[in-house]
Amino acid sequence: LPDEDKEYACRNFVLKDGSKIKFYANVSSVLDSEKAELFCADGIGLVRTEIFYLGRDGNCSLEQRMDTYRGILRAFPHKPVVFRLLDIGSDKKSAYEAFEDNPALGNRGVRLLLTDYQSMLEDQLTALIRLHGEYNTVRILVPFVADANEYFRVKKIAEDIAEKEGLNMPDIGVMLEIPSLIYQLDQFKGECAFFSIGTNDMFQYFFALDRGNPKVSSLYRPDNQSFINLLKRILDKSNEIGIPVEICGEMAADPEMLTKLIDMGYREFSVSPYAINELKYHLHKIQIS
Ligand code: PEP
Ligand code: MG
Repeated sequence: LPDEDKEYACRNFVLKDGSKIKFYANVSSVLDSEKAELFCADGIGLVRTEIFYLGRDGNCSLEQRMDTYRGILRAFPHKPVVFRLLDIGSDKKSAYEAFEDNPALGNRGVRLLLTDYQSMLEDQLTALIRLHGEYNTVRILVPFVADANEYFRVKKIAEDIAEKEGLNMPDIGVMLEIPSLIYQLDQFKGECAFFSIGTNDMFQYFFALDRGNPKVSSLYRPDNQSFINLLKRILDKSNEIGIPVEICGEMAADPEMLTKLIDMGYREFSVSPYAINELKYHLHKIQIS
């Protein structure tokens, strides 16, 4: 299908059981957000804020940071927009991590936010809480959580800021992308609004397989049955504790994997906005609805 063709993108897909398949968009720029709007995304499932940070807003003021994020919200108004807190490290390097011997297992993601980057964390949370006051569509996602307490610490900092600002707390969710968290899911019952599975990292850490190393890329097979079993376990547990779960890793953008995930029971996916049309075309072709 040609890139700009959106014949299928704006159709609703409802399964025979009455459930709707939702496609959110992963974005890294205002242009991506405009595409998300064009391709009728149900929301933005992942704003990779580290892209702005690594690009130019590393040392910007709170106002400037809010302006950057506002660009996304303006391009994609009225539907939920999930901003992932800064996920610096490993494949998303800054000068800081360049000196770690093993950055994939180092001080990255939420670990960094709770240590050396705490003022950045507070700044980012303040920006997002204020923007939620303006748009009412902001959701916050905490990346690279290995221990539930890391999430609770971030949540407490966010709640304190919201209280100080006299503003409502946006929905806050947890990124499931480190296998240790699968055995802590019960702790999140009633404590977070949503889960988002980052299958790119989840697979990397489950199989001890560097996601960016071409020498092992032929082994990077998320259709491996043990990984499918793991995803099924997460879905069952999330349903049991009443927390909606979506998949935001690349595997959902592979039509065959998407079918598998739908068969398994997943209904919400966040993919590149450019993939939505083709995926809906695929669903149409196999007459899943
Ligand atoms: C993931 O890990 O699957 C994910 C969506 O995040 P990123 O690719 O940015 O690490
Ligand atoms: Mg990740």
